[in-house]
Amino acid sequence: MRTAGLRTAEVIAVGSELLGSTRLDTNSLFLSERLAALGIELRIKSVVGDDRDDLASVFRQALSRADLVILTGGLGPTDDDLTREVVADVLGLPLDEDPSILDGIKRRFERRGLTMPPVNRRQAMVPRGATVLPNPNGTAPGLWLEHDGRVVVLLPGPPREMQPMVEALCAGPLRERAGEERLYRATLFVTARAESDVEQHVQPVYSRWRDAAPPIVTTILASPGQIELHLTTRDRDGAAAEGRLRDAVAQLTSILGEDVYSTDGRMLEEVLGDLLKARGLTIAAAESCTGGLFTSRLTDVPGSSAYVHSAVVAYDNAAKIALLDVPPASIDEHGAVSEPVALAMAEGIRARTGADVAVGITGIAGPGGGTPSKPVGTVVVAVIVPDRPAYVRTFQLLGGRAQVKWNAAQTALDRVRRLLDA
Ligand code: ATP
Ligand code: MG
Repeated sequence: MRTAGLRTAEVIAVGSELLGSTRLDTNSLFLSERLAALGIELRIKSVVGDDRDDLASVFRQALSRADLVILTGGLGPTDDDLTREVVADVLGLPLDEDPSILDGIKRRFERRGLTMPPVNRRQAMVPRGATVLPNPNGTAPGLWLEHDGRVVVLLPGPPREMQPMVEALCAGPLRERAGEERLYRATLFVTARAESDVEQHVQPVYSRWRDAAPPIVTTILASPGQIELHLTTRDRDGAAAEGRLRDAVAQLTSILGEDVYSTDGRMLEEVLGDLLKARGLTIAAAESCTGGLFTSRLTDVPGSSAYVHSAVVAYDNAAKIALLDVPPASIDEHGAVSEPVALAMAEGIRARTGADVAVGITGIAGPGGGTPSKPVGTVVVAVIVPDRPAYVRTFQLLGGRAQVKWNAAQTALDRVRRLLDA
């Protein structure tokens, strides 16, 4: 029996080392990306130690839920490599020795002037009916099994063996079996709003899409300094899916307005860089609490030398006075974290460098240094762009030191973007 199409998948990473604190299961990341491209939805992934009963129980459950189960690891020659045996056992299949695999492994050893240790014989055992996936990069071949309309694939654990095997031997057959539907995605990046606020505004809209035919599934994800909206839909017809997503993105953008900074995957620093480039403007920054992070992020973008002029990290008050001509009286009167000082920093760097756009950032990243009137997370951003009044505003940012620094840079990048985009 064959299923009409493989729609859902589970991935099981096998290996006790993956439960410890030193090795991470990265195979499932690779596999989830490939499965998404094939339109097969990865529903559950698990990590299991080298234990017969645990593996049998996780595998049995996966088999009861998913059309496709992929296991990686545990195909080695040693006693703790159990995947092959457990899978055969659960599926009720006897293991037969495959002479050609055995021969291949023997020759692999001979090429290095060694004789095959007897334990490697285990790697030539094949559950009856399985298709063998040769492994040019290691001794353990992969295995492909069809069972009650489901597909079970066993892959070696080392990524440098597993990945080429997927590309060369699994992607094609999986594509054939995946049916004609593919998964299509769109992403919106949103700044200056809390996750709950985004949710509250867009939920009434996207909840309707969930029940449409075909549906669009929306997930909201908070990541540092921004909220991400991920939209996915499946279709046989790529143009129809793309059109549906375009409409959905347009609706969400009209609700969230200019808080949406990107619908094409570009990060904030890229969006700002593109705006500067399009306008032929240069930018310089006077940074205090961000310690250069604002400019560091801008310069993460290839080609940023076209618009990044310079930056000064003026952390100490003396540096603000000496390098940026901030009036000492202004610091005395208003404090280093104040709107007059942020403005003076921006004016100072603009006067010194002649850059078109100037930014001043000053704040209290914590954990110390906060006061009742200026608590930790108080950040002031000043922006000067051509032909507009200077902008300055005080923000209350959340989080620990690293998060405040990140969010201060994010806020400054975002404010420059809005001023240039208006
Ligand atoms: P081998 O023939 O090399 O023994 P195997 O299938 O038995 O293959 P394992 O012994 O389970 O593979 O794993 C070998 C190594 O592969 C691990 O030490 C680890 O470095 C890497 N590895 C295994 N599973 C994963 C995984 N899920 N993600 C990333 N690396 C992995
Ligand atoms: Mg192992």
